[in-house]
Amino acid sequence: TVRVRFAPSPTGYLHLGGLRTAFYNFLYAKSKTGKFILRIEDTDQTRLVEGADEQLKKDLLWAGIKIDEGPNIGGSYGPYIQSQRLEIYRDQIEILLGNGAAYKCFCTERRLELLRREAMKNREVPKYDNKCRHLTDQQISERLHKGDPYCIRFKLSSDLNSYQDLVYGNITCEISQLEGDPVILKSDGYPTYHFANVVDDHFMKITHVLRGVEWQISTTKHLLLYRALGWIPPKFAHLPLLLNSDGTKFSKRQSDIKIEHYRNSGIFPLALLNFVVNAGGGFDKDSHQNVKPRIYTVEELASQFDITKLNTHSGKLMPERLLEFNQLELKRRLNNKTEEMHVVKEVQSFLLSHFNNLKNEKESLQVEEENIRSILHWCVNRMKKISDLIEPDLRFIWTIPKCYNLPEEELLLVKDLSEKLADQEYFNKEYLLPFLKSYSKQNNFKFSSLMKTMRYVLSGLKEGPGVADMMEILGKETTLNRLKICLK
Ligand code: GLU
Repeated sequence: TVRVRFAPSPTGYLHLGGLRTAFYNFLYAKSKTGKFILRIEDTDQTRLVEGADEQLKKDLLWAGIKIDEGPNIGGSYGPYIQSQRLEIYRDQIEILLGNGAAYKCFCTERRLELLRREAMKNREVPKYDNKCRHLTDQQISERLHKGDPYCIRFKLSSDLNSYQDLVYGNITCEISQLEGDPVILKSDGYPTYHFANVVDDHFMKITHVLRGVEWQISTTKHLLLYRALGWIPPKFAHLPLLLNSDGTKFSKRQSDIKIEHYRNSGIFPLALLNFVVNAGGGFDKDSHQNVKPRIYTVEELASQFDITKLNTHSGKLMPERLLEFNQLELKRRLNNKTEEMHVVKEVQSFLLSHFNNLKNEKESLQVEEENIRSILHWCVNRMKKISDLIEPDLRFIWTIPKCYNLPEEELLLVKDLSEKLADQEYFNKEYLLPFLKSYSKQNNFKFSSLMKTMRYVLSGLKEGPGVADMMEILGKETTLNRLKICLK
């Protein structure tokens, strides 16, 4: 069975790139009825951020990415946190030391620094010169005897330099030309990323590694490790780079790529998921691109996902596109009874908490569920996310607008009209529109001017939705009330 993993380092928040990687892994697992595993790669103890792993899990859960095995969830191949697996790595280190594939390195930080400087001076990429590969047994035991600190390095060889990437095809990388022998166990007893990653993927029986293309360069190194340990490697698929809309790379300081940011600004999880796969591909071009965008459910995406159709070119993330997806998702939800109910409740609590602090504005707040439901159906084409409901264009629904004094003539008209409207039994636009039309005709008042005045009195807006629409959505009581207020 297919087993894939998402293996973040808890060095910060989950961002779009991470979500994207997690989601493709999840989709692949679902499409093959496999398992999706979460593994926390916390071997760099200096970069840990407290609480990051908990937040990560919360973010994944919010997005609808269900973890089959992982920390606190369990599974047969745990623990799923690397800092709890140190003994497992130690054992494998012993094996590599035993078969000569790894060696103890006593080089001091000072020597390594000198090597770096030397390289810089010659305009070369710094690389370790593999000095300690050649220590004799005698030299090693002397250093050990002195109690000198050491790390373990892996001997890179040059006889394995290409592999098949499921997305990018044949990848060739002569790693030993580029780098010196990598550290696999640090002097603090913690393994490095490369080593722990390989050991865990093996023992967790990972069949496919789907990860960002920035790791492609490390894969040859990983394959050499698999070989040295006598293991069959998983298959590798690298995911294309995600870029900002202006083509720049994501930066750690950028707050608008945090998942938390999207959650707090009213983006629906499914909209975000559709957005990232839209940028990364993995589907038939005809059904997913260049055609009218639509929302695919996770099940639909899983059943259509084809790893070989992932893009190899970078994907730019266009914020307008995300909003488009969000609107589509809102529509989709409103068309499904259970989901509609959830949205209504979400909107209700959003409005209540937003207006709670604005005491004098909330007189007109209509937050009964049924009301919110019809209001949402009415404004779904005018909004992209829930918070748009309190933006100037739609705010009038909930709050009494500020209207400045109207000319005498218009006041008289409003007064007269409000008396007529009080007798109007049906308050939906099918009745209201003809009513307003004939009213303007009878009183010899230009229809468009009448609408302008009414729109202003009801919403404070100079332009906006049709007046009959507005009246229907506000209801008879609120409509009459607003007319009355402006007459005061
Ligand atoms: N811990 C690595 C990261 O933070 C995992 C890379 C991989 O999937 O191998 O991205």
